Amino acid sequence: MDKNYQQLLDRLYSKLPQKEPSSAYQELPKLNIMSAGGTTIIRNFEEYCDRIRRDPKMVTKYLLKELAAPGNLQDNGQLIIQGKFSSTIINTLMDRFVKSYVQCPTCRSLDTVLKADKKVITMSCLACGAVTTLKPL
Ligand SMILES: [Zn+2]
Repeated sequence: MDKNYQQLLDRLYSKLPQKEPSSAYQELPKLNIMSAGGTTIIRNFEEYCDRIRRDPKMVTKYLLKELAAPGNLQDNGQLIIQGKFSSTIINTLMDRFVKSYVQCPTCRSLDTVLKADKKVITMSCLACGAVTTLKPL
């Protein structure tokens, strides 16, 4: 059963039409950032992570490390960061994350998946099949 399901998935993926790199990039949802009190909230954080196929915990770790601020991922998919940060800073950091950990360097597709090992992360591109080795966070 599991094996058949996997084969079905593989077949589905292989039939996906290849997207234009530029349009794929534009498909990313815009981050919905607001500030409340002394905090910054990304309201659609989980939705964004779903779109880039990344574990929200990994993206949270990256973002909080870059901002050097504490924060919490909420059950409702929002990320609450302690401190006030402009949406420009958040967007710049998320762009950097996408370029480093999501976008295929070969074909620029955002349809990639990560496999994390103890010391290395490999990124496989679903569009062109390229495998890229990344530094762990
Ligand atoms: Zn690719």
